[in-house]
Amino acid sequence: MRLDQGPTASFKDFAARMMSRLMQYYLSVNNQHLTILTATSGDTGSAVANAFYGLKNINAIILFPAGEVTLMQRKQMTTLQNNISVIAIDGKFDDCQRLVKTAFLDPALSDIPLTSANSINIGRLLPQSIYYFYAYSKLASNLEEAIFSVPSGNFGNLMGGLIAKKIGLPVQKFIISTNENNEVPEYLRTGNYEPVNPSKNSISSAMNVGHPSNLARIVALYKGTMDETGHISKIPDILKMREDLFAVSVTDEETKNTIENVYRKYGILLEPHGAVAWEGTKKYSGLDNNTKPGKPLCISLETAHPAKFPEEIRQILNFEPPLPISMDGLEEKPENYFSMDNNYKLLKDFILKNY
Ligand SMILES: *Cc1c(COP(=O)(O)O)cnc(C)c1O
Repeated sequence: MRLDQGPTASFKDFAARMMSRLMQYYLSVNNQHLTILTATSGDTGSAVANAFYGLKNINAIILFPAGEVTLMQRKQMTTLQNNISVIAIDGKFDDCQRLVKTAFLDPALSDIPLTSANSINIGRLLPQSIYYFYAYSKLASNLEEAIFSVPSGNFGNLMGGLIAKKIGLPVQKFIISTNENNEVPEYLRTGNYEPVNPSKNSISSAMNVGHPSNLARIVALYKGTMDETGHISKIPDILKMREDLFAVSVTDEETKNTIENVYRKYGILLEPHGAVAWEGTKKYSGLDNNTKPGKPLCISLETAHPAKFPEEIRQILNFEPPLPISMDGLEEKPENYFSMDNNYKLLKDFILKNY
């Protein structure tokens, strides 16, 4: 399931666009105004920037770590302008996130209607349940049960799938495919949850998450309680979780081999996140005692376009990935963004002055 055909070539386009338009609708009905303030390590920022671009009643401020996003990711945010302000912070992603959190809690900004657009917002989850139905409707016959492999970081995408299953989509199993940040596969295996801290740097960089923000929701779906730090105060039905979910960790080495093998064997070009999902399906089908008899319908999710990861593709396959229409000509477009030290006072003054 290629979810990489949207305006920023990321599956995050689906949810960001639907949420932004829902927000605009309700704001205009109530004659209100809103400012989105969000931190990004790459893909979220470009999807959010594009989703809110040009909308009435809404401005967006996006913070990114100056040295940690790719040129194309930066250009997808900084070439828009209009109601989108982009700030390069001289720091890391965690610094950007800290600045955003401080702003939300600052009483001096309480008159400014600020909101985030991050992946725990239910408005990001609901739209993500729809493409599970769509893929199923295209591929299934006889209402068979499907298997979905979901490349996961903060588990928003998987949460969309779980909502689809709750609504009634016949799903036999969700394969949770993670990179070397293996806290969830370990949790399902042992029953003990231990965040990976600090998170590991894998080539599937959008999934470098050591403590997924939607995990508490998944635990709650199985009748448990987990707090924000990952502490479990009520144990979920882990047997039922294992029945519905198969979680697996994929190394960078395996990811690269998958990109190479899938291209050579099928002519399908994957990027690192989609390759993690693909490898997840292989690891699952290797355990034949887990699958029900017959040939299961298995759907692997590709969450970004390979052109967003040209260095990896070049290194593994020795050619330049073709650009999707949405990224064509992007490199030549003029950029406009602010640069800021990692200092909260500067961000606060910026917001007070401009919003
Ligand atoms: C954000 C992202 C993911 C992880 O999605 P979650 O909903 O956080 O699990 C996977 N692949 C790509 C390309 C992403 O941008």
